[in-house]
Amino acid sequence: MTLTVLMNAGPWLSVPPPGYGGIENVVATLVPELRRLGVRVVLASVESSTLPVDEKIAVFPDGQFHALQRPYNQVCGVSQAHLSGVVRALHARDDIDLVHDHVEAVGLATLAAMGPDAPPALHTLHWDLAKHPELYGNLDGGDRVRVNGVSASQLARAPEALRAHSVGHVHLSTPLAVDADRHAPVPKGDHVVILGRINPGKGQDLGARLAHEAGFPLVLAGPVGPYHRPEDLAAAGDEARQNPDVRFFHDHVAPYVDGDRVRWVGTVAGRDRDDLVASARASLFPLRWEEPGGTAVVESLALGTPVVATARGCLPELIEHGRTGLLTGVEEELGDLVLAAGGLVLAAGGLEPDECRREAARRFTPARMAQRYLELYERVRQGAAQP
Ligand code: UDP
Repeated sequence: MTLTVLMNAGPWLSVPPPGYGGIENVVATLVPELRRLGVRVVLASVESSTLPVDEKIAVFPDGQFHALQRPYNQVCGVSQAHLSGVVRALHARDDIDLVHDHVEAVGLATLAAMGPDAPPALHTLHWDLAKHPELYGNLDGGDRVRVNGVSASQLARAPEALRAHSVGHVHLSTPLAVDADRHAPVPKGDHVVILGRINPGKGQDLGARLAHEAGFPLVLAGPVGPYHRPEDLAAAGDEARQNPDVRFFHDHVAPYVDGDRVRWVGTVAGRDRDDLVASARASLFPLRWEEPGGTAVVESLALGTPVVATARGCLPELIEHGRTGLLTGVEEELGDLVLAAGGLVLAAGGLEPDECRREAARRFTPARMAQRYLELYERVRQGAAQP
């Protein structure tokens, strides 16, 4: 019997995402593998998503990422409209065996409220949950509604009530765009890269300061709030500062951005993103939050670039210190570790790009992630079938 899964990727970005998009990249990686394994996938996303699926449900024509900077009630409005579309679709049909939800904590409550008619649901946690216990509130769906995390450390930090509903964790895999086998190695340049949303938790301010102090060229890639290009941020007036990430950038990162030692290039996508990371001496993650899944960390390994990071969140699970990267609990050591890992000082040869690629090909393949999710789907469905 064919398994039909409703995959909820949410209303914020199309799938695959045009550039930045951690959750959407995971969905874009997972779905083709599931379909190869014979699963029918109904994707709940936005109309502009181009990922090949069996069927699509969409309320909005395109990604509503820009709405995330609006007041909270308007953000909730977008979220609720999307969810209502999903619930309407579920009420109208009976062929969905399981909902795999990636975005809406609220969606789980909605599903639970649908009663026994709702299909069983697996919700993949993508955030640092210790900070957002209120999002999950009462997960009163009995055994029909279960959660999984993206790393062991994330689940260990999750509120107790949530852990009680968990069915295990799955490491994020790498997007197909950086499939280790298909991306020929590119020559290394001199730069170090930080790939990710510009945000206090991702620590670009610390990275930029250390680049000046330790003397390595640093490229910052990623959006600042809803702004993807430096010229768009420059053109936005003072109103843009209502966004906390824009304020963080202006106050703590921009003072180090001199266009020479430290550059901010905005969001990078596709081949440009892969080349930027693959040609870097090291990927730096000066994290100040407990990184839950670290898609960009795994991508860096797949692209043959060693990782230097604060040992927070899932980093110790993903990186083997001394082989695929260097980790430290002391922020001020990061600058020296970047020089050593990247072979940027005479005394150090640097870590081996091939070791990183091998590790990614061994542990973080899309096929492995899909296989693991199929097992979790089975466990959720069995749990839901118990009287
Ligand atoms: N990303 C991108 N271009 C950028 C910055 C980020 O394509 O300029 C992608 C990156 O490759 C990764 C995702 O966005 O796939 C970020 O996911 P991650 O889990 O690392 O960060 P978070 O979801 O916490 O923002």
